Amino acid sequence: MFINCPNNSAFDDFVKRHKVYKQEFCEHIPSTQGNASMQWTTEAEEALGKVPFFIRPRARARVEQEAAQAGKTQVTLADVRAARQRMISGMAAEVKGYQLELCFGPGGCPNQITAATPFSERIEKLLREADLLGHLKARGIQDLKHHHEFRVALAECPNACSQVQIKDVGIIAALRPAVTREPCSGCNGCVLACREEAISLDPTPQPELDAGRCVACGQCLPVCPTGTLSPGVKGYRVLLGGKLGRHPQLAREMPGIYDEATVLEIVKACLVLYKTRDRAGERFGAVLTPEAFHAMIARFKPLG
Ligand code: SF4
Ligand code: SF4
Ligand code: SF4
Repeated sequence: MFINCPNNSAFDDFVKRHKVYKQEFCEHIPSTQGNASMQWTTEAEEALGKVPFFIRPRARARVEQEAAQAGKTQVTLADVRAARQRMISGMAAEVKGYQLELCFGPGGCPNQITAATPFSERIEKLLREADLLGHLKARGIQDLKHHHEFRVALAECPNACSQVQIKDVGIIAALRPAVTREPCSGCNGCVLACREEAISLDPTPQPELDAGRCVACGQCLPVCPTGTLSPGVKGYRVLLGGKLGRHPQLAREMPGIYDEATVLEIVKACLVLYKTRDRAGERFGAVLTPEAFHAMIARFKPLG
């Protein structure tokens, strides 16, 4: 589920967290309108035309606002350049060395498996204490931007709306069902509920789970009327080293499901590895070699 409407109560929270404008996401909100009484010189229009299209309305509004505040009725190239510099400075001031992105599970998504809030606060504490901003500055990066930041995302179910696959560390809440001794009524509810075709009722009278197909979403549990399926292992899946950019790669998943304490230890180990190996603000995926990834797997024991 990705949010696509501001009527969803989680939307404002998303906007606030990510410091973005609603107009960039939703057609239900009118775009930032230009000031009809403000004139633009040709050079100023050309300079604005080089701004990426998705932030152009916002940039136009900002330039016009600053020009109007200065008592001007015409925007010149100098105005565009000055506003651009102020926007860049403002962005640099917001860089804190890390980003922690949550999905909308805490906003009341019915797919939510665990309670994200206390756990995400513990993750954020780790990130804060790692002083990643100090690390990046010590690496001599002059013009710090958001893309230099270490990124962690937490998704409250395998739908992974917070795009865990392209983050330095991706964490997905997981709930794997267990088959009990309670007789199955053969109602077929779990088979229909499972989008992964991971449950089979044939040939045994009890359901059979295909662990290779099951993504641990827990969706088959509430539909079972007999208790034949019950909550089994519950925790988090962990993915490491995802990134976009010039050499994109999806994060690699550590096998198994981990409890909260182990996930925090994994995040800590990743931060140490990153700070040790990063030389110039590379993404974690660039410094996480196959050997380092396998060492992580060997070091941390999953619940199952
Ligand atoms: S990841 Fe799952 S719990 Fe989170 S918002 Fe998406 S569907 Fe809901
Ligand atoms: S937990 Fe999800 S994927 Fe696994 S068997 Fe149940 S419904 Fe299917
Ligand atoms: S939902 Fe429960 S009772 Fe129905 S088929 Fe599945 S395991 Fe059996």
